Amino acid sequence: MEQHSRDFLQAAGAAIADSERARTREALGLLMPNQREQAIKDFGGNKEFDALRSEVKAIRQHALAHLGHYLESFSSAARENGSSVHFARNGDELNGIVLDICTRHEAQRIAKGKSMITEETGLNAALESAGFAVRETDLGEYIIQESGDTPSHIVAPALHKSPAEIRELFLERHDLGERDLADAPEMVAEARQVLREEFLAADVGIIGSNALIAENGYSMLVTNEGNGDLCANLPPVLIVCTSVDRVLPRAEDAMAMLRLLVRSTTGQAVSCYTSFYAGPRRPGDVDGPLETHFVLLDNHRSEILASDYAEMLQCIRCGACLNHCPVYMNAGGHAYGWVYPGPMGSVLTPLLTSLEESADLPDACTACGRCEEVCPASIPLPDLLRDLRRDKFTQGVTAKRWRFGIQIHAWLALHPRLYQRITSL
Ligand code: SF4
Repeated sequence: MEQHSRDFLQAAGAAIADSERARTREALGLLMPNQREQAIKDFGGNKEFDALRSEVKAIRQHALAHLGHYLESFSSAARENGSSVHFARNGDELNGIVLDICTRHEAQRIAKGKSMITEETGLNAALESAGFAVRETDLGEYIIQESGDTPSHIVAPALHKSPAEIRELFLERHDLGERDLADAPEMVAEARQVLREEFLAADVGIIGSNALIAENGYSMLVTNEGNGDLCANLPPVLIVCTSVDRVLPRAEDAMAMLRLLVRSTTGQAVSCYTSFYAGPRRPGDVDGPLETHFVLLDNHRSEILASDYAEMLQCIRCGACLNHCPVYMNAGGHAYGWVYPGPMGSVLTPLLTSLEESADLPDACTACGRCEEVCPASIPLPDLLRDLRRDKFTQGVTAKRWRFGIQIHAWLALHPRLYQRITSL
């Protein structure tokens, strides 16, 4: 996915002026926090939930502190299960590995589940330019792909689309004759009908992963549509694309994370589908892929782990910080100009790309603290954003006019009488 984070201010201004989209975001800005709040009440209240947050934070910190060890354990367990494990230093390497596998199998059609990592590496474009037909099968991603758009939310990629827009899109793109498509269930049923053919025809399935489990070499995937299972089990070849920081020591750690993730994301007690992929079909199995590959992306994560920003790798991609952020709710996801929007994106994008390319993102914050309050991994997002602003200043990335303004402000702050006189004018 191309990066346009440099244009954040302009894009945010345009998004705020788009009143229809702004109304949709406003409604969601009320709905999603309410759902999370209700889920926490049903769980037993904030005290219980915070205890689980502390547990998961400790699990994530431990896994990241011993990342090399757990990656080795995962790799050897996955290989014992019959899978191949590949490591990619950057996006081009990941795309190259996937292309090689698809070419070796003379694949033509690829069915894809939702994967932010492949958005990060621009895998679809790489596969399509090599002649493969790629079909996104998560409903939101399918809508995005059909409309030539990009995701605006890490969990709900087509959040910005209205039902009327989706209806128009389906009527235009699906050659299914006269029909009403009057409501959402009809549209969902139609997408399901169209996509079913894609699963059956695919030569390769590509999915993401919510957690890699070191002790048994399994991968956990959480979805509400079941499309991940169809991508994983129907095509003869399965490729799981994820990043190195997803590894957890034990299956029970993944279950603890799951209890937190789903409540923080959609307010559900449990996701509709939680699947564990253990490798290729074994003798006696009636279904499953014949070949399974894990492709694990680093793309600067090792550098982040060794930096002052290591806590950002604790992120479990729940999207709660987006749903509670006043800047995200006003500017929308596209304004951030790359794969990861909202507070988590404002920290991650400069770290995964460059501070120069995304210089405005650390400032896309009102310092209200809601993101840190709701983050299930207890990531101090406002502190990390402040540190990035400091780096921006010390590295000379901050624009000259802003540096001059900050220096004047700092000087005035040291002269309180003058400061008072000027600010009281
Ligand atoms: S930073 Fe926290 S709240 Fe935001 S997506 Fe990651 S885990 Fe969720």
